[in-house]
Amino acid sequence: MTWATIVKSPDAAPVAPSLLDYERVRATFAWAQARAELDGLPGGRGLNIAHEAVDRHAAGARRDRVALRWLGKRGEVEDITYGRLSELTARFANVLRGLGVAPGERVYALAGRIPALYVAALGALKARAVFCPLFSAFGPEPIRARLAIGEGRVLVTTEALYRRKVAGLRAALPRLEHVLLVGAGGRPTAVPDTRDWHALMNAAADRFEIEPTDPEDTALLHFTSGTTGTPKGAVHVHEAVVAHHVTGRWALDLHPEDVFWCTADPGWVTGTSYGIVAPLTNGVTSVVDEAEFDAERWYRILQEQRVTVWYTAPTAIRMLMKAGAGLAGKYDLGALRFCASVGEPLNPEAVVWGQAALGRPFHDNWWQTETGGIMIANLAALDIRPGSMGRPLPGVEAAIVRRVADDRVEVVAAPDVQGELALRAGWPSMFRGYWGEPARYRKCFAGDWYLTGDLARRDRDGYFWFVGRADDVIKTSGHLVGPFEVESVLMEHAAVAEAGVIGKPDPVALEVVKAFVALKEGWAPTPELRRELLAFARTRLGAVVAPKEIDFAPGLPRTRSGKIMRRLLKARELGLPEGDVSMLEEPA
Ligand code: AMP
Repeated sequence: MTWATIVKSPDAAPVAPSLLDYERVRATFAWAQARAELDGLPGGRGLNIAHEAVDRHAAGARRDRVALRWLGKRGEVEDITYGRLSELTARFANVLRGLGVAPGERVYALAGRIPALYVAALGALKARAVFCPLFSAFGPEPIRARLAIGEGRVLVTTEALYRRKVAGLRAALPRLEHVLLVGAGGRPTAVPDTRDWHALMNAAADRFEIEPTDPEDTALLHFTSGTTGTPKGAVHVHEAVVAHHVTGRWALDLHPEDVFWCTADPGWVTGTSYGIVAPLTNGVTSVVDEAEFDAERWYRILQEQRVTVWYTAPTAIRMLMKAGAGLAGKYDLGALRFCASVGEPLNPEAVVWGQAALGRPFHDNWWQTETGGIMIANLAALDIRPGSMGRPLPGVEAAIVRRVADDRVEVVAAPDVQGELALRAGWPSMFRGYWGEPARYRKCFAGDWYLTGDLARRDRDGYFWFVGRADDVIKTSGHLVGPFEVESVLMEHAAVAEAGVIGKPDPVALEVVKAFVALKEGWAPTPELRRELLAFARTRLGAVVAPKEIDFAPGLPRTRSGKIMRRLLKARELGLPEGDVSMLEEPA
């Protein structure tokens, strides 16, 4: 079915869209203009994300404006003004200095959405350390792998998470010197080999002058997943703030008076770029909810906090749709001005449902860990074509390309042709490397083009449409999961000879992780063993990454070079044609 375009009349918008004349700005824009909207460190000493996000507001008219409104799981509310955030982040920067953490060393956080996480992120940036967030629902194995790859020296976590997931890893992580524990309800902690966050923070000075920061200094390390090998640490620099800031203004239509709610967790890139940096550089009040998804709670937050701009994800929207428009109708969502979505394909039904149930359509936008910020978006002032990701932001050149050699691509000029989505390198928030893996980084580029790994097409009016992934990575509830990471853990079980992992389509989560397992001699494929394997994987990988389904198979299809043919597993699972099987080693 084709969906009617949602026509915008920017003149009638309650607030003038921040990017009103897309075509004109796109034709003339240079990133230096966006850079000029930021202050830079006083005295021309460079560019630091934490200064743009916090200190420049704290030193000016926004000092007493609420920067973060934290909503605790149990109904607590904590307002942190820009002034207070400046002091807290100064304290943490001083804590790091006191621990002897040098610029460029990695400071990790493993925590739910609690104030300390936000303070740790911005404080680490002030100290010019590299901040690396880990998703709190990860199990010990993904945590260990990421801490080991990035050689984390400091970890900020909670006492509960430490006891459950990290304590047993310490021997395997010799580089991890300092673990700072946030106690429940601010209570002091006394766990061997750790330090108490509150004690360190209380003892630290609340002023900190950020030292000169080169815009190309590494600021953030965000792990993402590939089809093969270990997780990849995408390296982002302080210069990225230029893109965070202006894309927040354009693609999320942030205005200084907004109350903004990004539902993403900072353990993933959206929750950092748009859950921490962009709202603060734009000087808005950012709502942080500690709790997990709950339809009624979410509507209550939108109503009570008078949220004006909302950034969420398709899985959550589909869950709201399941809960019904009637539920939405019970709440006053009148403050809501702009709704956006990211992370997975947003069905056209969901865009239109937003319009009917919330009074605002969802504006889908596209980007990924490597791009650091929003690249393609449905904008406030532009008509929405439901199902499309929108158009490239000014400063972003996107194209559909076809590979003609390993290191060469050709741009497909004709509209409506499917190919790989590529971006011309050079935007400020582009990743600058995969941590410690220069060859893997180089493979992402062909000449000037960064190859995204996504398949898409562009229509004749310049709107981009997502088609699928070009590789085997899995998107489940908006989270990218690498099949290799899951297969490796399954293989650690004594019964497993080989494992192949795919994303199985799911109406709500887009995909769920499904594993096919071949057993070693002497093991029988019983329901008990299946349950045991599911539990084994869940304990090690955590709920988001672990398979939800396991099937036993006598053997797995492999290529002649020994790679598991996940594509074939998926085709068989879905009852689709098997495609080219000439690479198959032997029929399995
Ligand atoms: P991540 O790096 O975890 O943020 O995942 C990035 C990937 O998520 C992209 O390469 C796409 O495959 C997918 N993705 C993100 N946004 C969208 C969108 N608006 N529509 C379709 N897929 C998306």
